[in-house]
Amino acid sequence: MADIERLRKNLEDRGIRSSYFATAQAAADYLDRQIDGTTVGIGGSMTVKAMGLYPRLSAHNRVVWHWEGGGLEDAAGTEVYLTSANGVAETGELVNIDGTCNRIASSVYGHKRVYLVVGVNKIEPDYDRALWRARNVAAPKNAQRLGRKTPCAVKADRCYDCKSPERICRGLSVIWGRPTPVETMEVVLIGEELGM
Ligand code: SF4
Repeated sequence: MADIERLRKNLEDRGIRSSYFATAQAAADYLDRQIDGTTVGIGGSMTVKAMGLYPRLSAHNRVVWHWEGGGLEDAAGTEVYLTSANGVAETGELVNIDGTCNRIASSVYGHKRVYLVVGVNKIEPDYDRALWRARNVAAPKNAQRLGRKTPCAVKADRCYDCKSPERICRGLSVIWGRPTPVETMEVVLIGEELGM
């Protein structure tokens, strides 16, 4: 069972804010209040999709999401950026693997406020386990979801470190602390399983 208090303390020590909600519904309500009258870019995230944040935020913000027909460059220029993480260590490291790499780029540069929305299933005790999860759980599941011709997509059982042209793992980011140009970075923790 994830040690939420330990994680939140370690995030705080790294200059990263956090919040915790028992349910995705409560977290979505919170984000709907926090993000108002501004511009928002969203990175590929099954968590954000499951929470219904695109339609909710679009009602009172200008929201750009390539999953909803928006342009990646337009999402790169917004004030707020919203995505998830593939692995979160209780020691505070935030791990993401990306193919296009828009998500890992925007999580560290180009936005004043960054929110990472994270279900409890993404949390691991330390950095090595968080990285292992990102590579061997999240990435194969995403490759399978996307129907890629990669060895991991057959059973989504582990990473085979493939050299496939359809490989989805092309960049890795580890956030050790709030990047200095980002004014606020917040991890929104949710006590439910969400995303890959
Ligand atoms: S490197 Fe290849 S085998 Fe490993 S998770 Fe990524 S796409 Fe799958």
